[in-house]
Amino acid sequence: MSDVQTPAIGIDLGTTNSCVAVVLNGRVEVIANEMGKRITPSCVAFTEEERLIGHAAKYQAIFNSKNTIFDAKRLMGMKYHDENIQNRIRLWPFNVVESSGHPRFRVQYKNEMKDFSPEEISAMILQKMKAIAETYIGSPVKDAVVTVPAYFNDSQRQATMDAGKIAGLNIVSLLNEPSAAAIAYGFNQKKGMRQNVLVFDFGGGTFDVAILSITENDFEVIATSGDTSLGGSDIDERLVVHFIEEIKKKHNKDISDKEIKVKNEEDSSKILTKLRNACERAKRNLSSSTQSEVLSESLFDGIDFRANLSQTRLTKLCSDLFTKTINIVEAVLESSKMGVDDIDEIVLAGGSTRIPKIQELLQGKFNNKKLNHKIHPDEAVAYGAAVYAASISSDKTIENIKFVDVAPLTLGINVLGNLMSPIIPRNTKLPATVMKKYVTTVDYQSGVDIKVYEGERLSSDENNLLGEFSLENIQPAKKGIPQIEVSFVVDMNGILTVTAEDTATGRNEEIVIRCNKGRLPKHEVERMITEAKEFQKEDDKKEKLRAARHELETLCVEVKDLISEQRDDDLENLELDNFWGVYTDTEEWLDEAEQATEEEYRSRYDALVEVKERMVSN
Ligand code: AMP
Repeated sequence: MSDVQTPAIGIDLGTTNSCVAVVLNGRVEVIANEMGKRITPSCVAFTEEERLIGHAAKYQAIFNSKNTIFDAKRLMGMKYHDENIQNRIRLWPFNVVESSGHPRFRVQYKNEMKDFSPEEISAMILQKMKAIAETYIGSPVKDAVVTVPAYFNDSQRQATMDAGKIAGLNIVSLLNEPSAAAIAYGFNQKKGMRQNVLVFDFGGGTFDVAILSITENDFEVIATSGDTSLGGSDIDERLVVHFIEEIKKKHNKDISDKEIKVKNEEDSSKILTKLRNACERAKRNLSSSTQSEVLSESLFDGIDFRANLSQTRLTKLCSDLFTKTINIVEAVLESSKMGVDDIDEIVLAGGSTRIPKIQELLQGKFNNKKLNHKIHPDEAVAYGAAVYAASISSDKTIENIKFVDVAPLTLGINVLGNLMSPIIPRNTKLPATVMKKYVTTVDYQSGVDIKVYEGERLSSDENNLLGEFSLENIQPAKKGIPQIEVSFVVDMNGILTVTAEDTATGRNEEIVIRCNKGRLPKHEVERMITEAKEFQKEDDKKEKLRAARHELETLCVEVKDLISEQRDDDLENLELDNFWGVYTDTEEWLDEAEQATEEEYRSRYDALVEVKERMVSN
């Protein structure tokens, strides 16, 4: 007997949508969910009875807007008081509260108030993607490559790893989203020659640009940049704010005021959800026509909302966001020391690249060079992640790929004068190990505090503090004499370990940066893993119930057809009347069986299957 190895899957854990893919027998399969859709909304809802994930959550959002969470990725590894988060809270229909500086989603679930961390919500989405893959593959999945925005910082990456842990997944590697898109583009391209490819990845919540040098299945990231709070949702928010103002002017009502109660029991949350959905629809329509309408039936006070939206207006409202994407492209070109003519292909990924103005600006930047639409903007990231997952798990059915990524941000420590001393500059190839020596600044100093930062500013305070630790009992001496060696090691996932050593005594301290700011404490993660398992049990129970009902319904159809056929041949057969009685009785029971248990479905099934067998043997 030999072990059947379950393949590792690739998951694109997106802000708006998620997607899962796997390599089976050398072929990359982007897997459809239970609705037959290859992308699943990154949406989780809590109701009086159950938890819903994906389409089921999205479809009920307007009836349960306070308890339907989306955009959770935007809060991963973030602090509650971050300005970006505070600006968004006003426009989200759900509640975000603070817990020890971290943001938490506050919902009503089974008639109780409950707080969930962004990691837990992301874990629920990961669990869903895992389940979609397991249904397709037919066996349990353990290992996964999960993608993150290239510009995600250490805390955001750590938070994603925690989400994987909570979901019961072994994340074998994180992979940057534009790198995954580049793999999807370049995999199996038998060109032989080296190509410089710029990936422009503009999704629902994040924006990334990467320049890669690709030779067959050899991928090397040269430079990367981005904005982890820039995506399609920002465009939607601009539209929402614009129409909130229009409504204020026209109807003298502030629908963003979360305290308002209006007619028909509609509160602000529901109105905001409806308006946001209408804006998003209009925005999408504008990618294929110059005019569109924002339509929402009975938006508030029974008023049907209807407003024109042109491409020109959309561009005006979002022009700074659009320009920002081009500025970032320019920054990446500069970092990679390349000019526009050095780029052989411009590859688009992410749903927001469908916006015509974005394409026009990008094309204009590259002297009207044709943009490459070869990869699927919604599926390429999961596709590339699946190829990478297969490659690193030594799947013999695909060609191995060689992959080198870079650190997205400069990493360093705070030194005298509140200055950041860079140790690993951004765009350094990973994995990377760099050691730098520092000396003390005070006579007979007994210890040093090491504060680790990431970012590009000269002053430490303006960068992002990742963590801090102290090295005590260093050998007493005049300032400038004791030498402290500080080593930074960044692994392939972009996760940093820092060591400091007093060269005289050999005393050392080491920390994996567990960001004091963004990271969940270990005991919290353990608790969340246990809770996630409970959720999984409930989901499994629901799934079994659904399957039992489905089997009984299918059997009813078969038995009904069999009785009809046999009736045609044998009008006098009285036994058929009995069979018909059992069948109709089962159908009636099914109509009423909302609360039935799995056992009850099974026992009804057994009774009906006996009828079927008797008919077949007659
Ligand atoms: P992704 O994260 O790649 O799934 O992208 C999702 C984002 O793409 C959402 O903000 C969508 O509103 C946006 N999007 C999808 N299709 C279109 C379209 N046709 N035009 C404009 N934006 C779109």
